[in-house]
Amino acid sequence: MTEPICTRCIYDASVPNIEFDADGVCNYCRQIDELEEKFPNGPAGQVEMDALVAKIKAAGKGRKYDALIGVSGGCDSSYLLHVLTKDYGLRLLAVHFDNTWNSTIATENIHKVTKALDIDLYTHVVDAREFDDLHMSFMRAGVMDVETPTDIGLAATMALAAEKHKIKYRIDGHSFRTEGSAPMGLIYMDARYVKSVHDQYGTGTVKSFPNLWLHRQLRWMLLRNLKTVRPLYHMDYDKEAAKKLLTELYGWTWYGGHHLENRMTTFYHSYLLPTRWNVDLRIIGYAAQVRDGRFSRDEALALMAEPPHVEDGLVEYYQKRLRLSDDDLAALIRLPYRYYTDFKTYKKLFERMRPFFYVMAKTQRVPWSFYIKYTLPHEVVRRENPASLRVPEA
Ligand SMILES: [Zn+2]
Repeated sequence: MTEPICTRCIYDASVPNIEFDADGVCNYCRQIDELEEKFPNGPAGQVEMDALVAKIKAAGKGRKYDALIGVSGGCDSSYLLHVLTKDYGLRLLAVHFDNTWNSTIATENIHKVTKALDIDLYTHVVDAREFDDLHMSFMRAGVMDVETPTDIGLAATMALAAEKHKIKYRIDGHSFRTEGSAPMGLIYMDARYVKSVHDQYGTGTVKSFPNLWLHRQLRWMLLRNLKTVRPLYHMDYDKEAAKKLLTELYGWTWYGGHHLENRMTTFYHSYLLPTRWNVDLRIIGYAAQVRDGRFSRDEALALMAEPPHVEDGLVEYYQKRLRLSDDDLAALIRLPYRYYTDFKTYKKLFERMRPFFYVMAKTQRVPWSFYIKYTLPHEVVRRENPASLRVPEA
């Protein structure tokens, strides 16, 4: 950790775009305060939730589905499948973007829960070789945003499913209370960025990967009027209780960490980011749980002091699948640092379109967080070349 550390959560001076007020509280904690005020839970949240469900049902009248939801096999999306179906009677379409790196547990979880609840599953499976080429182009480019193809692929798959079934609502499983607020200017993603990186560092052509082009995004926002909503914002969501319930009712299995249901994501969080970038994203979740009173600050700081757990055989699996020798991997980890600003992206265009996206965010056509994070200029913190990095033995 780098001093100063926020007096309320555990964000420290190494978090990008952090500021501390006179009480030593960080701007990310203040963001969460604003969200708490805007999205109360408890009885007031229940009123909001009932109103939201009524709107979604009205929009789904005469159609096969009321809303769609992205599923990963993780706790948040699985719990939402359960609660929105059982307690609120919504007719959901579950949507999955399969980047072919799923853990077996995740795939089984998705099937167990959707089958038991009789929920249809719409899956887009990308061509494995093509996806690995996209992934490796981000690795060779030397940027931090290696998971961008997965995130963009999911967003595009959801929009395609919504278009096909004329669905008006997209359920997003984010909870600021358990997941917190990701630092601004750390991770970046957009369709033009994917193309630009792949044009320079990829080898094959992109055919089965659904990219989220701006013209498509605009069409979905304006013509199809697809709205994104976050039910967990209104709910008293107890993640530990949710895991227990899912295990008892559906035989769902916990895989040991947030975002770890996919092998590539696990490699990214527990190996690549800490090793190459000295970034440990567990801080986001731990900070959220400190703010929410689930951990004490000292407990969270002690957890951060322990290195992230790297699953047995994970790095070997990664290397074997991508045919990378130990030296190849070490060379990728020591590449000069590069940033999304070194490539063609939509960022400047998003900034010029800020007033437009303000209206879109106000009418729920883009998440509020998109408006905050993508339409404002952010400083990219450039770092010293990592050539001298010590790469741990796999
Ligand atoms: Zn804070």
